[in-house]
Amino acid sequence: MILILLGAPGVGKGTQGALISKEYGIPQISTGDILRSEVKNETELGKKAKAYMEKGELVPDDVIIEMMEKRIKQDDCKNGFILDGFPRTVAQAEAFDKMLSKNGLELDKVILIDVPEEEIIERLTGRRICPNCGAVYHIKNNPPKVDGVCDRCGSKLIQRDDDREDVVRKRLEVYKESTMPLVDYYMKTSKLVKVDGTGDIEEIFARIKKILG
Ligand code: AMP
Repeated sequence: MILILLGAPGVGKGTQGALISKEYGIPQISTGDILRSEVKNETELGKKAKAYMEKGELVPDDVIIEMMEKRIKQDDCKNGFILDGFPRTVAQAEAFDKMLSKNGLELDKVILIDVPEEEIIERLTGRRICPNCGAVYHIKNNPPKVDGVCDRCGSKLIQRDDDREDVVRKRLEVYKESTMPLVDYYMKTSKLVKVDGTGDIEEIFARIKKILG
């Protein structure tokens, strides 16, 4: 099963991707997570990506496409994968189509998760993450037991630099301009399904499972 999770930053692609991954036993590939780890490890790729990410802009297509070409060839992708945060431009979608056909693979579904913009801003600016184990919290909707401390590993929680309100607004602008055209792109293939991304996590996951069967 090859799936794309599409939607603005903050609609829950990461959360739902993790649930789908567990339920169907296929890896979730998050370009944002890969890039953050490259930045943290100060690799060549990380150095190229850092400035774009800090400003809420997209990392250039050629860098992302090369990175994904390598990732989907890895062994764990044999039975399929879930893409979270890729493709994000029409050029990336076209390159992905080529990668699939070159490898004799076919895309199953594109799940578009829909959440109103004001809710997205609240979700992202209130998000806190654990820099050690990757756990995700929200100051109001999903607070840790002890303020500012990870329930799982006890590390101090942080706010992602790009979850500050000014950067969030920039990311939403970039989404509308560069990524929304993908809705039309995939609508034409009749693989696109829209899911209401509001409500609690389990409820949204149930809607997705119904689509995937
Ligand atoms: P995310 O965690 O998916 O919101 O991604 C965080 C940041 O990583 C984005 O704001 C971009 O700067 C960069 N990024 C992630 N995925 C892509 C992509 N497919 N194309 C370009 N930039 C990306």
